[in-house]
Order: sequence, then structure tokens, then C-alpha cells
Amino acid sequence: MSPEIGLFILSDGMGGQTSGEVASRLATDSILTHWREAESSPSLPLIGQPLGGLSESSNRLASAIRFANLEILAAARKNPEWHGMGATVVAVKLAGERMSLAHVGDSRAYRFRSSNLEQLTQDHSFVREQVRRGILTQEQADQSNLRNVLMRALGVEAEVEVDVEEELLLEGDTILLCSDGLSRELSGAQIAAVLKNADDAQTTADRLVDLANQAGGEDNITVILLRRAAKPARGLTRIGRWFKR
Ligand code: CA
Repeated sequence: MSPEIGLFILSDGMGGQTSGEVASRLATDSILTHWREAESSPSLPLIGQPLGGLSESSNRLASAIRFANLEILAAARKNPEWHGMGATVVAVKLAGERMSLAHVGDSRAYRFRSSNLEQLTQDHSFVREQVRRGILTQEQADQSNLRNVLMRALGVEAEVEVDVEEELLLEGDTILLCSDGLSRELSGAQIAAVLKNADDAQTTADRLVDLANQAGGEDNITVILLRRAAKPARGLTRIGRWFKR
């Protein structure tokens, strides 16, 4: 996580505790590495095809995620004990009030604006796809034994499709990035209730994690909270503190 360059990355590992941690660490490190390389040499080629209609920043973010995918694959190939590891990712790059948002897998981004919580990302999961096609109801999907099955993740294939979008942040907006450890245990209404009474980001993140743990959360939980201050200091957009557990 690099608040100084406005880059926030959340990755959740898969494939056993140790290798899952390796994969998620590799994901965040590689994204940051690619980003920094591009900053010092702007002509650094993009990995993968540029996505039409998106800013340079968004395309660079997608490129960084594709780079992370390759790095995880390469590491797993070299180390048999890491075979089968993978990771999800949800990443935000801020440039003033503009936000690039990219994700692969079932880690999510939510936006809380004017007391409304909106999920900005769609899970790349098998059950989400079944819901989209009308084969399962949301309730059935939530109960399904297959809800862990992802359609996309980093470290699975040499090419990964990255979902990228751009959003404008308004004053007072809160962006929540979280792993499925949180979104599985708490409903949108529960998350919204916590964000509505939010004071500082740290306390708010603590409250979300505590609630998810009380709800029986067995998975590890990662949360990043960003808030665009209601009154920017000296004309600058200030994003609130972040927190990660
Ligand atoms: Ca998880």
C-alpha cells in the first residue's frame, strides 16, 4: 500500500495458508514494482492490450496486475511447494478526484456515498456467474458449496482478464476495499450501518473486522478504507487514513 502515490492494493491469497500468503504478497509487491518502474521510465511497455476509452493510469494499473499474474505463475513454476497458489486483487489508483479501479477475483470495492452503499465490483466467481444467468438466486449462491470457486484469479493462466473502471470521487465519499472474509460475513446493510456512523478510518475498519469475526468469520479479513475529505485542505484532495489487517 503506497498512500504517497495514491496506489492502494488489496490481495487475498489462495492455495493453502503459506503459499496463499506468498501469492498475495507477490501480487501487491509486483503491482507496486511495475508501477514504480513505469513512473521512472514512462516508455515501459504495457503488458497486454490497452483497454479502449481508459486513461493511461487505468491501463498502467491493468498492466501492473497482468505483470503480477506472470510473477506468481513464474514463482509457482520454480517452487513445487507453491504449485497451485493464486490470488485475488482489487486495486485503486487515485489521481486527484479521479479513481481507477481494477480487480480480478472476489475481493471487492464498495462506494459509500450519501448514505448509500454500492458494490462497484462484480465477483469473478462461479456462483456470481450462475446468478447473472438466472440459474441460481442470490440466496442459493450465498449458501452454495461452490461459492469458493473463482472464474478468474492471478496465478492460474498466462493471460488474465482484468476488469477496470474509472470513477469520480465526490467529497465525503468512502471507498471500501475488502477480501471475501468480510463480504461473506456482513450484508451490505451491515456494512452501510458501520460506514454511516464512521468517525476515523482506523476505528471504522476495526469495527467492520470485529463484526465479521463475531459473525463467525473463519477466513482472514483484509480491509482498506479510503475517504475523500469533505473539505479539502488547501485545495488538495485529502484521502482519509487507511487500515489493513
Ligand atoms: Ca479469502
